[in-house]
Amino acid sequence: MFILLLMNNSVHYCFSYRRRKHEGKITYVKSDELSERERNNLRNKWKAASRGYRERKKMEKAMLDLTPQSIENTLPDPAGVEAVEGQQESPGGGVVVDAPPQNEDFHPQMSSTPEREDREKKAEKRFKRLQAEKHELRKLNIHLRKQLAKMRKEKERARKSEMRAKERLRHIERVKPKGGKKLAKERKLAVVSFLTRDENSRLLPGKKDTITKNKIKEQRRILTKPLTELHVLDNSEMKKSLHLSYRQFARRRPFYVTEPKAKDRDTCACRDHENVHLLANKLYSRGLLKTKSISELLVMIVCDPKNKDCMDRVCAKCCFEEVEFPETESSSEVTWEQWKRVTSTNGERMFGNMVKQIYNGTIKELMELFSQKLESLAIHQFNWLHQAEQFRYLKQNITECEAVLHVDFSENYACKLSTEVQAFHFGGSRQQATIHTAVLYTVHGTKSYATLSDSLRHDERAVWAHLEPILGELRETFPQITTLHIQSDGPVTQYRNKNNFYLLSTVPFLSGFTKVTWNFSEKSHGKGAPDGIGGAIKREADRFVQRGGELQAPQQLYEMLNTRLGSSITHYWVNRESIEKYDELIPDNLEAVKGTFKIHQVWSSQPSQITHRTVSCFCRKTERSPCPCYKPVTVDLRVKRTVCNTENPPSSPPQQPREQENLDLCGKFVIVIYDEKPYVGQVLEDVGEEVQVNCMLQSGAVRQNPLTGRASDKDIEINFIKWLYLSGDRDGGRKERMNKQQCIADPN
Ligand SMILES: [Zn+2]
Ligand SMILES: [Zn+2]
Ligand SMILES: [Zn+2]
Repeated sequence: MFILLLMNNSVHYCFSYRRRKHEGKITYVKSDELSERERNNLRNKWKAASRGYRERKKMEKAMLDLTPQSIENTLPDPAGVEAVEGQQESPGGGVVVDAPPQNEDFHPQMSSTPEREDREKKAEKRFKRLQAEKHELRKLNIHLRKQLAKMRKEKERARKSEMRAKERLRHIERVKPKGGKKLAKERKLAVVSFLTRDENSRLLPGKKDTITKNKIKEQRRILTKPLTELHVLDNSEMKKSLHLSYRQFARRRPFYVTEPKAKDRDTCACRDHENVHLLANKLYSRGLLKTKSISELLVMIVCDPKNKDCMDRVCAKCCFEEVEFPETESSSEVTWEQWKRVTSTNGERMFGNMVKQIYNGTIKELMELFSQKLESLAIHQFNWLHQAEQFRYLKQNITECEAVLHVDFSENYACKLSTEVQAFHFGGSRQQATIHTAVLYTVHGTKSYATLSDSLRHDERAVWAHLEPILGELRETFPQITTLHIQSDGPVTQYRNKNNFYLLSTVPFLSGFTKVTWNFSEKSHGKGAPDGIGGAIKREADRFVQRGGELQAPQQLYEMLNTRLGSSITHYWVNRESIEKYDELIPDNLEAVKGTFKIHQVWSSQPSQITHRTVSCFCRKTERSPCPCYKPVTVDLRVKRTVCNTENPPSSPPQQPREQENLDLCGKFVIVIYDEKPYVGQVLEDVGEEVQVNCMLQSGAVRQNPLTGRASDKDIEINFIKWLYLSGDRDGGRKERMNKQQCIADPN
């Protein structure tokens, strides 16, 4: 009885301890916070407590060992034994053993009064219950321990992975400024390819425009925008891992991409862009503009600079938008500069040069001029960027059956001797070589070509004679290539004219191509990879002459280049006969294509039929027919169309050499002889080598007027000239005259 109570006590003790612990009543005191004496006391207390605990345990065990026997003894009938044996097995657990050891010290009294029996039965019942409880608790304990171990393991794993992650992060941060070898290389390449894009830097074509660093000679390129602006552009385009700070970006700029110098400007910069730059700079320096970047200024007046309608100023939403200026004293005097083409003479020869002219006026006039120039620059800017982007897309998405050919005429090479007689140097006996350059892109790689000729012809027939050997080689090496994309700049005398349209829609089909596109870059923005080839050839030739070689004729230049080993450029010779062959291919009665000046893409997949549009698009470049983007127009060149009633039919170059004009042609009245008939017209645009003329129609007013209807062409021409003579070089026109009249009427 006593033992049972004790055991009961111990269970209670356990429970109460847990409860108190759970309730936070047990305080933990750190041993080093106690004095020596207190510590000793505590230790003694613990010792006593644990001794008591051990004794209680011992008793408990003894009791457990003993109980079955006592039960056996109290219940001697076989049924009772069986019941106990069954019970022995069911809770199992090493507590109850099969043969309980006899405890000699313990001899319970064996009196069998009914009272006692009753008590023993109760005790037995209670014992059983407690044993089951204990068993349950033990099971729970084991389970909790297992769970605890599992959680500890998990915690440890989490801690380790966290540490690894932290370590990795530290490593990345440590490596970041250097970028890692692979990443650094990728970044460098990204910056180089971004800065050498044709819209971001312009290749200088001259043979002296080179720059050497660490014995590496490269053709110079000049930036078309300030580096800060390019940096912002680059970051907006690149994926995040390639983002760079401005300093890092500037450091990765290739050495041959330089800021433009003063002398670069007048060689071949785009005059339109440069003039707007000059005006914007002036307004910016006076605090009237917040920025001098042209692209930012254009964003102010259009909804979307990537939308052709907006940039063409025909979008209903934004076509009336203008850059807003703050309130200012608009009548104060100001001077500004503009590039202008002037021709000068030294008595024998005429030179066309770009000069900066200074203008005077009021701020208001300057602002008006700026708005007007910016407005007209929008479509030019759009065409330039769009054509460059399309060409890049074309090169990057080239397929197995396509070839891209980028072509350009290089400046003629004047043959030289190492020791030249004075007379030869100044006389007219120096021979020139025509060099046509091409870069071919296929899935198999890039190849450079230069075709040389002693014929100085640069017209479209010569172009095709120069292309012939390249296309022949291409068909032979890659017969699976059936689509040809040609890219060039767009001078009307060379590439952008009806004769070339006819040739491109016939000649390639003869040699097995099934589709041809010809894409023109925007005027003044056509410099590209082929220019580098021309420069390389001329440098090579100059070196040869300096070493004592003789290049008296173009043929010698070709032979010298061809015998040189290790050149990456393939050379071909084009003789005069092969050029003349193309003269016969062109029919006499080809009609001019309407709006030739604005065409930037010509597409042909059927002989003598072309589809043209104002900008290139390659969204369905693998299909046979062109996509419907940007309003394509299909024209059959052989069909004689009705009498041309377009606004500006003759887009042919003026017959008169322009050097005879002493001033900028823009706005001048001229007579254009077209199809041997005179037309009077006004020059709309003066683009380097060509002019765009807005013509009056002979078939119109003059022919319908009964007084002049029967006049001969000669009469009309004479009258035109008279009229032009009388109209003279009056300043301003109608508005100005009205102003003058008003001044006379009202002297104030
Ligand atoms: Zn431009
Ligand atoms: Zn718009
Ligand atoms: Zn398209």
